[in-house]
Amino acid sequence: MVKIGVLGLQGAVREHVRSIEEAGAEAVVIKRKEQLDEIDGLILPGGESTTMRRLIDKYDFMDALKDFAAKGKPMFGTCAGLILLAKNIVGYDEPHLGLMDITVERNSFGRQRESFEADIPIRGIGESFTAVFIRAPHIVEVGENVEVLAKYEDRIVAARDGQFLGCSFHPELTDDQRFIKYFIQMVEEAKSKQLA
Ligand code: GLN
Repeated sequence: MVKIGVLGLQGAVREHVRSIEEAGAEAVVIKRKEQLDEIDGLILPGGESTTMRRLIDKYDFMDALKDFAAKGKPMFGTCAGLILLAKNIVGYDEPHLGLMDITVERNSFGRQRESFEADIPIRGIGESFTAVFIRAPHIVEVGENVEVLAKYEDRIVAARDGQFLGCSFHPELTDDQRFIKYFIQMVEEAKSKQLA
């Protein structure tokens, strides 16, 4: 069984733990950087990206997260986590982790629609998936090796760049395990390659 960590500094941590366990993998809440050595893949949850960044710096996680990525281990960012992964953020000079070859824009669905649900098709996952958007970012631009997995109203809301997976919405807030299973499969594949 693969072990999936959820960065436990802030945000929707418990919801991801529940969803990982329901999908049949082992979940670990990551509160210290040393714990990253124990896991095969990592989820950066939704919450508030600026707060999470502050805590990443405070608890000295930045280099450890980049080392984790450099080992080829998969990372999955949901909502604020997607913003943390992105190489570019509209209106900001510097990214946070800057690992995934995408440009994101924060809070891009407007105030009157702070949160909403939409059923959207997701490539490799299914024809209809209930996506829960909460002050969600969207992906403005993707690099050439990035696979677009889903759009909503012509905006990219899910994508994969090799070992990095990201979405604007919160799959962990539904009982549908298909998205997390997709990530678990990425982690299993990466792990079997590392063992080979
Ligand atoms: N608006 C938040 C941010 O910019 C993301 C919201 C979320 O994760 N639900 O970090």
